[in-house]
This record gives sequence, structure tokens and C-alpha cells, in this order.
Amino acid sequence: MTGHKAIIGLGGNIGDVLDSFRFGLDCLHADPATRVTRASPLYRTPAWGLEEQPDFLNACAELETWLSPHELLSLLQSVEDMRGRKRCEMWGPRTLDLDLLIYGEQQIDTNNLTVPHPLITERAFVLKPLAYLTPGMILGAKTAKHHLQVLSSEEQKMKLVSDDTWWMVS
Ligand code: ADP
Ligand code: MG
Repeated sequence: MTGHKAIIGLGGNIGDVLDSFRFGLDCLHADPATRVTRASPLYRTPAWGLEEQPDFLNACAELETWLSPHELLSLLQSVEDMRGRKRCEMWGPRTLDLDLLIYGEQQIDTNNLTVPHPLITERAFVLKPLAYLTPGMILGAKTAKHHLQVLSSEEQKMKLVSDDTWWMVS
């Protein structure tokens, strides 16, 4: 039986962020109902929103999951908490941020979960790794690749840190 295909966004700018990303994907892969199938390359991105803080690392990963969207959100939040994530300042510095971007074709709008994630099409640091995994994905009637072209000035500020081999099933 195949599970649901989901895409998550990873971000962080405190501590050893690459290690946090690997830890995060290892935890998700270790969940009996979830498997990490692919990761995007890794990018360094200037901080967005609150600019007086260190650059971020960003990436996306594709999952196959048998969890419901809300169960998956809880799992993502528990992994963030294990990495010492403190929720204080909106857009502020963080060790590990895991966002649920896409869950199959589902559209979800509840108090604590909106999918597709509402800011996907506005932020190059989400779109670029997402478009790497699924360039033809349709978001609001246009492809991910098209949305990224619109954000090309923001995209140009992103630096490639690693290709997609930074995470391997261990
Ligand atoms: P940020 O917007 O910077 O990622 P947080 O990670 O602190 O901020 O998330 C704030 C809230 O966003 C969470 O409490 C969560 O319930 C809510 N949320 C709504 N939709 C999503 C989603 N698709 N993925 C992750 N969190 C979401
Ligand atoms: Mg988040």
C-alpha cells in the first residue's frame, strides 16, 4: 500500500543547522509511518522578515507518509522541540523549523494547519528547493517553476551550499 506524498520545508539559523536538518530527517524516517524519499539541495538564504539575524539554511524533503496531515504536523513539531526549538518571535532565529508545505492534493484550512502552506508562492527560499523536487507542481494555477521566475531577484541572493546528497538514509 502506498502512502501519501508530502513535502516539508526545513529552515534554521542557530547552531549546527546542517546537523539539525540531518537529525530532523533521521527522526522522520525513523517514524514507523513515514519515510523520507528525497531531499533537495541545501541553500544559504539571507534572513527574511527580521533582517538583523544570521543567514538561514533552507531545503525541502519529500516524504511518503501514512500519518494524517495533523498527525504529521504533530510529528514535525515534536522533532522541532527535540532540537530545542523555542517559539517566541515570529520570523525570529530558530534551530530547526519544519513546515508542512504539501500533502498530496489536499487543501486544509484549520486553526493550526493550512496546506498548501500559504507562503509557498511568496518566498524563493521555499520555492527553489520545492521546484527542484517537483518543478511542475501546480500552485494557484501556475507551476512552481513559474512562481520562482517571478521571485528571481530574491532567488539570486540564495547560495547553493550542497547538492542533494547531504542527507542519506542511515
Ligand atoms: P513559522 O510560520 O515561522 O514557520 P512556526 O513554525 O512557529 O512559525 O509556526 C507557527 C504555527 O503555524 C504553528 O503553531 C502551526 O500550528 C501553524 N501552521 C499552520 N499551517 C502550518 C503548516 N502548513 N506547517 C507548519 N505549521 C503550520
Ligand atoms: Mg514553522
